[in-house]
Amino acid sequence: DTSRLHKMDDFRWVREPKGAMRVPGILYADGHLLGEMDDKVLEQLANVAALPGIVQAAYAMPDAHWGYGFPIGGVAAFDADAGGVVSAGGVGFDISCGVRTLHTGLAEEDIRPHQEALANMLLHRIPAGVGSRGKIHLAPAQMDAMLSGGARWAVEEGYGDPADLERTEEYGCMAGADPAEVSERAKERQKDEMGTLGSGNHYLEVQKVAAVYDPETAVAFGLHEGDVVLTIHCGSRGLGHQIGTEALKSMAREAPVHGIELPDRELACAPLRSTAGQSYLAAMRSAINCALANRQIITHFARQAFRELFSDSALTLLYDVSHNTCKEEMHQVDGESRRLFVHRKGATRAFGPGSPNLPASLRPVGQPVLIGGTMGTASYILVGEEGNENRSFGSSCHGAGRRMSRNQAKKQWRGDQVVRELAGRGILIRSPSMRGVAEEAPGAYKAVEEVVEAAEAAGLSRRVARVEPLVTIKG
Ligand code: 5GP
Ligand code: MN
Ligand code: MN
Repeated sequence: DTSRLHKMDDFRWVREPKGAMRVPGILYADGHLLGEMDDKVLEQLANVAALPGIVQAAYAMPDAHWGYGFPIGGVAAFDADAGGVVSAGGVGFDISCGVRTLHTGLAEEDIRPHQEALANMLLHRIPAGVGSRGKIHLAPAQMDAMLSGGARWAVEEGYGDPADLERTEEYGCMAGADPAEVSERAKERQKDEMGTLGSGNHYLEVQKVAAVYDPETAVAFGLHEGDVVLTIHCGSRGLGHQIGTEALKSMAREAPVHGIELPDRELACAPLRSTAGQSYLAAMRSAINCALANRQIITHFARQAFRELFSDSALTLLYDVSHNTCKEEMHQVDGESRRLFVHRKGATRAFGPGSPNLPASLRPVGQPVLIGGTMGTASYILVGEEGNENRSFGSSCHGAGRRMSRNQAKKQWRGDQVVRELAGRGILIRSPSMRGVAEEAPGAYKAVEEVVEAAEAAGLSRRVARVEPLVTIKG
């Protein structure tokens, strides 16, 4: 029901606090995207705005849609001093799911003659699919080292270069992780899954830079039209899912103990200043490290695959950013610097130029924001916009967002037809699951152009380049 929304301008909509809401809900989208959004997004935004200790506003990004408790594409920050909470549903099940993009140093014309071989090699080297198992088996001590060390651990183990860490959020290692807070069940699920892509919308994609919108920033990012890049989208696999599942259950059970009244059971949360809150944070940060390590190991396998075909190729990391996290960050609120716990669920961190969180090489320009589209259309590389910290705690959209459910998509398309049609357009799809490909058909997603244009118009992030797929390995 959009009638309860107040239009600030063409790309900003506000729901003023009413009833239990402590702060406004702010939604960034154009009128068309807003029309396509399910009503649940607004309801969920209002519910989030009612949680204890929320600061400034509950935000929804242009690709927002219904999620468990919090909308996907939701951003909310909480202050521990004000009774603030942490919510497992505000992070999402695939903790630290994220995207990394690497330069390959190759051009489209280098790839085309070997496209088929490259697709097969990548499929061969990178385990993908439901419950896919890798070649790496972690003993308990290694598991704990991985959960504490993240991508830094992976690099120490020989999966990649120290230079990769500079271009990874948190420099590859999330502080405050505690493997002792991760259940045995979660560790058990993960012990053979390192370096695997998983299923569904997780992908590894060889892409060409098809257009540059902001030449100056593109050069700073090392991107030029015709360049080929490699993008990896995946998360913390079984471990993150298990941690999320357990935390949701215990948070829902314990909420009354903390005197928290939940407008919706799915909003299960715990005070930041509680044992339950601190345990979840320590486990969630371990899962962030798992995701960072996982993308780092996949990078290593992808480098091996590229080197088999292009012996002098050197894949260098542009950036790795997560879109399912809760992070402790300093933000200015009404002229005051405050320590906040920022939940981004299906929302990409998007810090503008000058942010002290960025490595020196990116600080003058801003953070790369990596946005998936579909395996048959385009994806985007954006940059965090100046002043975005005040609009969304420095966040942006994370993808196109689904237009229809997996079930609907499965009825509408057949996987082998999708593969054939895309092959006719020069895009090679490889996947262990043709059903998965049907569910992920490009037509099942909204137009990513519209989402990124709205993010740009709302001052969240600015388009730098558009990339188009050459090869997609689908989980
Ligand atoms: P999520 O993080 O919600 O699982 O997915 C993020 C976004 O990735 C989706 O909204 C969708 O736009 C995008 N996406 C899903 N599959 C693919 C793919 O195969 N290739 C590309 N480039 N993007 C994809
Ligand atoms: Mn994911
Ligand atoms: Mn994701």
